[in-house]
Parts: sequence; structure tokens; C-alpha cells
Amino acid sequence: MNVSRRSFLKLSGLSVAAFASGLGFDLKAAKAQGYALKLEGCTKETSICHFCSGGCGMLLHIKNGKLVHLEGDPDNPINEGGLCPKAASLASVAYSPERPKQPMYRAPGSKDWQNISWDEAIERIAKKAKEIRDNTWKATEEITNAKTGEKETVPVNRAEGIAVIGSAEIDNEECYLLTKFARLIGTPYHEHQARI
Ligand code: SF4
Repeated sequence: MNVSRRSFLKLSGLSVAAFASGLGFDLKAAKAQGYALKLEGCTKETSICHFCSGGCGMLLHIKNGKLVHLEGDPDNPINEGGLCPKAASLASVAYSPERPKQPMYRAPGSKDWQNISWDEAIERIAKKAKEIRDNTWKATEEITNAKTGEKETVPVNRAEGIAVIGSAEIDNEECYLLTKFARLIGTPYHEHQARI
């Protein structure tokens, strides 16, 4: 008999179900019971997936301050209970031991990263941003007057060495602040990751 991968999986599933029901197991009830046990004592919070601008709604089940289970929120009009695989990995964002929890710095020429404090990182970024802004600031530009054809110098006041890039990971309020920051620092290069 020639069995494809798909039909093999189907057959295996059916065999397990038939075996279980032959032994008197009700798989559906067992699954529901397992689910109920897992969520016992949990509080339920609604939240939004931060991975993309889809903004799917989630239900977070929390016990003793720790996320125990998450699933799509069936009452959310955007995703109606569905979630894509990225959202399923959200718990790792909070608990993965691989996740860096503080800023890291690699000195020029070094192959090693070192942990630095948030104050140190903010100070360093601020100094670098100021240095780049000062060194690349363009106050005026020469243009050709469209009517007269003559060259003239006009004020432009822009930070040409700095670009600001938005992210699907940030929310409306953060986007607002980032846009304000781009205007404040004077860069004309303000883009969003989704357009690149
Ligand atoms: S669940 Fe998937 S589609 Fe929905 S917001 Fe998260 S990443 Fe985007």
C-alpha cells in the first residue's frame, strides 16, 4: 500500500483515537479537563500582541505573577480568537534565558560584549547623537530659482547624519513620541520598517 505523509498522519491520528476510545477514554473530555487544570487559579487579563501592527487581542492567564498560558481573545474584533505562530512565542519574550535584560556594549575592535547600566547607555547614546547632529548639520542649501534660473541660498536646518526608523513593535503612543523626536532633532529621514 502506498501511503502519503498526509494520509499516514491521518491514519495515525485515527488509530490513536480509536485505541483510546476502545479503552474507554473520552479524548475530548480529557483535553477539556487538562485545560481546566492548567488554568486553575489563574487570573485572566486581556492584552495585545506586540509583534506586528495587526494588533491581535490576547487572553493572558496568570498565576503567581507568571504567565501560564496565552490564547487569542475570541471577543477581539480583529482576530476573533485566532493568533499566528509569532504570538504563540510571546512567553519567551518574557522568560527566555537568552533574552538580554540590560544594555550591552562592544568596544571598537573588540569581539566581546559587556553589560552596561541603563544610565551609561542613555548617556552614551545622547552624546553620540549630539556629536553626529553637530557634525552633519546642514543650515543652508543652494538651489536654482525656478522662475529666474538664478542660484540662491535658502535655509534648510536639517540633521543629515541621523535617520529615525519606526517599528511594528511600537504602539501608537510610542510612534507619536518617535515622530516628535524626529522633528525635534531635525532629521528629514523618518521611515517605517514596514515600508523598507
Ligand atoms: S498574532 Fe500575529 S498577526 Fe496578530 S499581531 Fe501578533 S504577530 Fe501580528
